[in-house]
Amino acid sequence: CGVFGLYSPQPNDLAWLTYLGLFALQHRGQEAAGMCVSDGEKFHVDKDLGLVTQVFDERRLDGLRLPNAHVSIGHVRYSTTGSNLRFNAQPLTTRTNKGILGLAHNGNFVNAREVRNTMLMEGALFQTTNDSEVMLNLIARESHMDLIEATAGAMKQLRGGYACVLMSRHTLLGFRDPHGVRPLVIGQREDGAWVLASEPCALYAVGAKLIRDVQPGELVWFDRGGLHSLMVEPRRPTPCSFEWIYFARSDGELDGVDIHESRIRMGMQLAREKPVEADIVVPVPDSGIGAAIGYARESGIPFDYGLYKNPYAGRTFIAPTQEARELKVKMKLSPTSAVRGKRVILVDDSIVRGTTSRQIVNLLREAGAKEVHFRVSSPPITHPCFYGIDTAARKELVASTHSVEEIRELIGADTLAFISEPGLRQAIGGSGLCGACFTGEYPAGTPLLNDVDKLA
Ligand code: 5GP
Ligand code: SF4
Ligand code: MG
Repeated sequence: CGVFGLYSPQPNDLAWLTYLGLFALQHRGQEAAGMCVSDGEKFHVDKDLGLVTQVFDERRLDGLRLPNAHVSIGHVRYSTTGSNLRFNAQPLTTRTNKGILGLAHNGNFVNAREVRNTMLMEGALFQTTNDSEVMLNLIARESHMDLIEATAGAMKQLRGGYACVLMSRHTLLGFRDPHGVRPLVIGQREDGAWVLASEPCALYAVGAKLIRDVQPGELVWFDRGGLHSLMVEPRRPTPCSFEWIYFARSDGELDGVDIHESRIRMGMQLAREKPVEADIVVPVPDSGIGAAIGYARESGIPFDYGLYKNPYAGRTFIAPTQEARELKVKMKLSPTSAVRGKRVILVDDSIVRGTTSRQIVNLLREAGAKEVHFRVSSPPITHPCFYGIDTAARKELVASTHSVEEIRELIGADTLAFISEPGLRQAIGGSGLCGACFTGEYPAGTPLLNDVDKLA
C-alpha cells in the first residue's frame, strides 16, 4: 500500500494535492484509493475500489474540497489481510473523545489477531476485517490520554512492519514500526506545508522537497508549531529489501539509498556472480530495467529493448487470481525483433510463483531467441512476507518447494541464476535490511502459528 499526508499552515487545495500524491503512489496499490480532508471543523472522507483516477473524478474531488483545509491523508491499497471489499478501503475513520480520527496504513501487524481478540472480550466493536482497525481502536480507546500518548501506546502494543499516517481535525501524525520495515518520508513545500509519504515521488508530485525519512520507531506530528518528534521504540533498523529490489519507484531514495542506483548495483553484482556468454541483455520491463542496465554495464554485453511493455497495463503480480495474472502478461508484454536469432540474457527483479517468468521465456523463444539465460536480481523467495508485501503464500512460492535447477526446468530457460543474499545486501548497502522472504529470519516477529495459513 501507499500512504500520504499533508499539514498546511496556509489554506491549500488539499484534496487536489492529496490526489496528486496518491497518483504518484499508484504503483503501491491499485485496488482502492481514499482520502480524508479537514479544515479544523469539517472532516470529509471518500474512498472506493479502483485506481486513483477512477475513484476521484471531478465531482468526487469537489465533494472533498474545503476552502480552509489544512490537514489531509490518503491511501492506495493492495490487499494483504482483509479481502478486496469496499469497506476495507482506507483511510479508516472513527469518532473518539479526541474528536474524529482518520488512519491510513501500509504493512501488517503480526499480532493484530491477538490484540483484536483481547479487545473484543473487553467490549470493543470492529466493522472491518482490516488489521488497521485494531490500531485505530487502540488509539481511540485510551480516552484518558492525549492523541500523541495514545498513538505511542498503540505503537508499543502492535508488532510487525508498518508505516501509518493519522489525522485529527488539527494534527497530522506519522509513524514507522520499530525496525523501519516499511518506509515513510517527510517533505516540505516552499509555502511551509508538511508532507508525509511512503516514497519521495509523492513529495515531488506536490512540489515538496525531501527533508528526511521518519526513523524506525519514530512518531512525528505536525501542527501550528511545525514538526515534532518522539522516538517511541527504536530497534535495529531492518528496512524491507524488496523496496529497493522491486516495490519502490526508481526516482527516489529511501533511508539514504537511491533506488535506481541500488538496482544498477544489483545487476552489476549479478553479472560478477553469475556471468554467461550471450549477445544481448534484455530487461523484463519495468521492474527488471535497473538491474539489466547494471548487468550490461558490468558484463560489457549490450543492453537491448527485447520486450515491449504496453504502458496502459498495470502490475501483473497485483492481479488477484492466477488466471487474471496469466492473461495480463499477454496484455502487457510482447517481444521485439531485437531477440531474433540472439542469445539473450533476460533480467528480472524476482521470481515469485514462476508463472510469469515461464510465459516470458516462452514469448522470447517464439520470437526466435536462440538461447534464454534468466538472471534474477533477488535471491530465491522461499518464505512469505508478514510485513505487507504480498509475495504469496509459502506453498505458492516456487523456490520454497523447488531447487534452482528445477525452477530453470519449469520456466524453460537455458540457464537460471539468482543474486546471492550477501551480494544483494552489499548492493543495497545501508546498515541493516529485512530479508526474511529469502532467509526465514523475521526481524519484527511472525504471527502465531495457528494464524498462519500462509506458513502451511
Ligand atoms: P513470477 O514469474 O514469479 O510469476 O513473476 C515474477 C514477476 O512478478 C516479476 O517480474 C516481479 O516484478 C513481479 N513481482 C515479484 N515480486 C512481487 C511482489 O512482491 N509484489 C508484486 N506486486 N509483484 C512482484
Ligand atoms: Fe520485505 Fe521480504 Fe521482509 Fe517482507 S519479508 S518486509 S518482502 S524483505
Ligand atoms: Mg516485473
